Amino acid sequence: MEIKILGSGREVGRSGILVNTGSEKFLLDFGIEVQHGQKPSNPPMDLKGVFLTHAHLDHSGCIPFLYKKGYKGPTYMTRASLDLCDMLLRDSIKVQKKKGQKPYFSQEDLKRMEQKTITLPYKKPVKFKSCSIQLRDAGHIPGAGQILMESQGKRILYTGDIKFLGTGLTNPADTDYKDIDVLICEATYSYKDHPDRKELFDSLKEHIQYVLYNNGTILLPSFAVGRTQEMIQELSYLGFPITMDGMGIEATKRMLSNPGFLRDARKLKKAFEKARKIRRGKNRDSVTDKPGVIVCTAGMLQAGPVVTYIKNLHMREDCSLVFSGYQVKDSPGKMLLETGKYINEGINVKPRMKMTFMDFSAHCGRSQLLDFFRKVRPKKIILVHTDHGPEFGKELRGMGFNVEVPRNGDSLRV
Ligand SMILES: [Zn+2]
Repeated sequence: MEIKILGSGREVGRSGILVNTGSEKFLLDFGIEVQHGQKPSNPPMDLKGVFLTHAHLDHSGCIPFLYKKGYKGPTYMTRASLDLCDMLLRDSIKVQKKKGQKPYFSQEDLKRMEQKTITLPYKKPVKFKSCSIQLRDAGHIPGAGQILMESQGKRILYTGDIKFLGTGLTNPADTDYKDIDVLICEATYSYKDHPDRKELFDSLKEHIQYVLYNNGTILLPSFAVGRTQEMIQELSYLGFPITMDGMGIEATKRMLSNPGFLRDARKLKKAFEKARKIRRGKNRDSVTDKPGVIVCTAGMLQAGPVVTYIKNLHMREDCSLVFSGYQVKDSPGKMLLETGKYINEGINVKPRMKMTFMDFSAHCGRSQLLDFFRKVRPKKIILVHTDHGPEFGKELRGMGFNVEVPRNGDSLRV
């Protein structure tokens, strides 16, 4: 068998892995590098199937492009991933146009992909001539799966993005594996551990109370898929007035229509019903009149309602901006954290509001990765989706693991 890395080799983003069993070819994920819009290398078009781990654009963002290029076969994913992909991919066309980039696909290509999509529950193998493939819970966002492939007596596991500890929103990832021959594993956070989630929420709640007590507003920019829902769910029962704005509203609806992929659908539903939702831009001014918490997109401050809120609130020292997730290089959020300046969509300001970064993450940290490797003991580990691959690979080899850290374009025989 051969595994070819089309994207996410020694980089975070634009995942794309081609597996050739000798007689059949499969593509696992086909995403985009979100900030600059780069795609992975093209796979051959005679694929037997495309399997998607989860809806995030760095894993899904180029799949409709395959249909544009003439691929006519199926794409497999969970129902929750399909509903979230539909929203994110549609939006990505708009965003790319706005950035002056040429979108890789059209609405029609997306529609073609959706018509050819076959949805799968976890643990239901799809049988092909040379292999069988199934999805296992990845714990990363609702509907996220790991891909387990069995072919010619070999078991290959591709993690996609993975979180071993559950959150309020997701169950812990499935780690119940035996006899894995090849583990293709994300290693985004091979170099650090994330703080304890409960402690993080405790300090966030304390911070919110302090700001509200001083009549301020807390701006909580959050990714539409995942972070938004976890935030409203965990904060809603504390009695703070919460307002939602942006694509997180639609994402929540789509998640609630797939309750089986949520850890506690009732809790999320209750929180969602309770939150105030802003559906028109002109209502934004009224939100900041009174103290409260605003959960809005975009998570890296690059677009969406957060831009208006920053414009309205940046001079107010009684207000606070809380970053709750990863800020990619060159994003306005990352620049604000590094320079104290917010430059985006014609705005160039030095906000006076308080700013805090809290390391909520939907990925596993270093210790959990090591625990996973020790538990599963795969015969070979292939590290992808990481900026720290060579160092981590060396370290793992020192622990007795057989590790490869391929570059984009590399092929590995297994
Ligand atoms: Zn992801």
